[in-house]
Amino acid sequence: MFDPSDRSLEGKTALILGVANENSIAYGCAKAFKALGARLAITYQNDKARRFVEPVAEALETDIFMPCDVQKSGELEAVFEAIDQQWGRLDAALHSIAFAPKEDLHGRLADSSPEGFGLAMDISCHSFIRMARLAESRMHEGGTLIAMSYYGAEKVVHSYNLMGPVKAALECSVRYLAHELGPKGIRVHAISPGPVKTRAASGLKHFDELMESAAKRAPRGQLASIEDVGAATAFLTLNVARLITGETIYVDGGYHIMG
Ligand code: NAD
Repeated sequence: MFDPSDRSLEGKTALILGVANENSIAYGCAKAFKALGARLAITYQNDKARRFVEPVAEALETDIFMPCDVQKSGELEAVFEAIDQQWGRLDAALHSIAFAPKEDLHGRLADSSPEGFGLAMDISCHSFIRMARLAESRMHEGGTLIAMSYYGAEKVVHSYNLMGPVKAALECSVRYLAHELGPKGIRVHAISPGPVKTRAASGLKHFDELMESAAKRAPRGQLASIEDVGAATAFLTLNVARLITGETIYVDGGYHIMG
């Protein structure tokens, strides 16, 4: 029943979008994929980001290391073309990227601009859908697609503002994609980590208070690390998890169950 290959990513390939540095949630996931034996493709957003991501990619001995700004036409497609050339297959793809313009992120949702809302939605949600479409034809033997969400998708979190509805759309897209791609053996999930001190998180107002209250209220009494998030993410890509799909999995010490 428990075939060892069901619990390994040996011979499997994984694409990771969203490493900014060694504090990134995507880095925690990349480490977990690597530990289970996967070959990795890691992207960096632009030249400015490259010098922070390169040492991480080197340490993880990635096969593919390429730029990918999901807003730049052709860059995501080029990553998939490199995957075709190097691997000819894809087993897992992680989308761990989000963005909202500061003026929109720091204001009320009611005051958000159509441009700011649209940009946040495009980078943080629709690019996951584009990634799924490109991955579909490369996942010949099925696979797993994973996006990073947050509790603010489900409940109002003071200061999460327009990212709440954007993450809600992301979680809903996960369910629709799970429905559409399930017959091809492709599973789709959202992971919802508790607050982690990363570069993206530093753009949120009152983030330290959020971390403090998350640690205090969570039944496990502590914050999740990027390694905790990575372990849960990697588990979902394993064959043992083949009948789990369309879920939002919280890695938050149980914070989300509290009333
Ligand atoms: P991070 O700053 O390390 O990563 C964010 C990444 O998004 C960066 O690598 C950045 O380059 C990338 N990005 C932004 N715009 C992009 C674009 N146009 N094209 C390509 N890449 C782009 O921060 P993080 O906290 O690790 O964020 C990763 C994901 O986790 C995000 O979706 C975030 O919303 C989510 N998340 C974070 C927390 C937290 O507390 N840090 C909690 C729950 C969910």
